[in-house]
Amino acid sequence: MVGLRFSSVTLTAILLSACAGGSSTAGPAQTAQTAGSAKRCQGLVEGLAVRWPEASTRLTGVVHREAGLEQPQQGPPGMALPRANLPAHCDITGVMQERTGVDGQDYAIRFHLRLPDDWNGRFLMQGGGGTNGELGDAVGRLAGASAPALAQGFAVLAQDSGHDNARNTVPERNGAAAFGFDPQARADYGGDSLEKVALAAKALIGAYYGGQPRYSYFFGCSKGGQEGMALAQQYPDLFDGIVAGAPGFSLPRAAIGEAWNTQAFASVVKADGRQVTLANLGSSFSPADLGLVGQAILAACDAGDGLADGIIGDFRQCTSDKVLPKLAERRCSGAKADGCLSAAQIEALELIHGGARSSDGKQLYAGFPWDAGWGDMGWRIWMLGSPDGGMTAINVAMGAPSLASVFSSPPRALGSDPAASLAYVLGYDFDRGSAALDAVVPPFTRSAWEDNAARSSNLDGFRARGGKLIVPHGVSDPVFSINDTADWWDEVNRRYNGRAADFTRVFPVPGMGHCQGGPATDNFDAFAAITNWVERDSAPASLPAKAGPMAPWPGRERPLCPYPQVARPVKGSVAMNGEPTFECVG
Ligand code: CA
Repeated sequence: MVGLRFSSVTLTAILLSACAGGSSTAGPAQTAQTAGSAKRCQGLVEGLAVRWPEASTRLTGVVHREAGLEQPQQGPPGMALPRANLPAHCDITGVMQERTGVDGQDYAIRFHLRLPDDWNGRFLMQGGGGTNGELGDAVGRLAGASAPALAQGFAVLAQDSGHDNARNTVPERNGAAAFGFDPQARADYGGDSLEKVALAAKALIGAYYGGQPRYSYFFGCSKGGQEGMALAQQYPDLFDGIVAGAPGFSLPRAAIGEAWNTQAFASVVKADGRQVTLANLGSSFSPADLGLVGQAILAACDAGDGLADGIIGDFRQCTSDKVLPKLAERRCSGAKADGCLSAAQIEALELIHGGARSSDGKQLYAGFPWDAGWGDMGWRIWMLGSPDGGMTAINVAMGAPSLASVFSSPPRALGSDPAASLAYVLGYDFDRGSAALDAVVPPFTRSAWEDNAARSSNLDGFRARGGKLIVPHGVSDPVFSINDTADWWDEVNRRYNGRAADFTRVFPVPGMGHCQGGPATDNFDAFAAITNWVERDSAPASLPAKAGPMAPWPGRERPLCPYPQVARPVKGSVAMNGEPTFECVG
């Protein structure tokens, strides 16, 4: 259990830090206004008339908070987020649909809403992460933005999606994924809770400010990106603008992909004649081995975009025809040794690139494109765990319990031993497993795919209401493949006769891992882009992006281009910093 918990924390830290914004510039609130707001905030408790769309809704906490530095975050040590200056606001928590599930667990949907005294007339819902179950801070941290949404004057909503990790974690039923044993909890996680909490928040905003928001937005990545997609497809009237980063919109199939990739790495351990353990999985590629992999991919594809700069500008051009010969050049002539790759290692990489398949060759989940971020630390932690085995691969620690509990019917209890999770993944049968994903087994009335997927190309409602959708996605994302996202956009584009870009744009981020990190220009303000698109009809021709301090080239700037366009250097151009200027072409 220690391994599981450790990696879950790591995942949460990764997902949360992806949303960390800078500090706010909020000034001191005016005393008289604050006093009036404090009274109005308290008035909610005393019976301000709220017409709850869901009759079971009740408030569990209302407190007015003065402007100032936010309180330190609750949570495990080492994952504290930067504290932001927050404006004076009414801090509200509520709950609805309190009930006992078929698994005997007590469930409810909890939400958290912060209403600033100095409201800008706008509403933001922030997305969740991983298996959810956390209430969320409702501060609206926005990757790449100068201040959290609350500090910008937005009313901000967060929710736990219908289960509570503090209450509903059951070690013997796959830990925090135990909610997958209850049909309603599974459905709420998959998307049913989204409309319920959004409508509750809008009702509360209406009662509190005396009017509805002029503009409503959603911002999330990973599971939060799946939620953004579910909203655009299934509840198109709720939001004007949605940022759905690295969308887990094929979550059940991506979980099959995680099992596939783990089996690929396990084959390397077996080829060495070793037993497959969590620790040995982490050592199937040493850091130096992964360095060779990155070198081979760059040697094959870096210059193809017009500039050898460590960035593969067009992942679609980086084919196996180009990469495999470069990997072969680095293959050991004899036994595995330092400085070369074994045949089994290269075969494992090809399996990951090809993606999960059934025994008859049917693609079950997209493969992962060759890219410069393969082998980066974030990529490695998802795929392999730490080199010393001290940190379990997230694909096993979170992927296996989720696959067994939430994405398969009937759900299966793996017990609380992380080794059991590994055994489940190693024994996973891709034919039977994919059937369990589509099966409808009582007490479930929908399949795991129906509950959790949000991959439809039907955006009729969202498009008709003028909605706008931005989808940033790391090309080196190790869990949700950008190939799946690009294929989806192509389907949307076909459905709307080549006009998908009028309302939905995917921005691949070369080198970036899951929501952030990697050898990438991973600092960009997608939220500013969506508000400009919605409110000023200014469609993003590109997203300006900058490399962070951990990148090989801190401070480097590049435009992110809307797929299928790619950034190419303008011939003969030299900017002030000595680099060429770039344009989006294609
Ligand atoms: Ca390049």
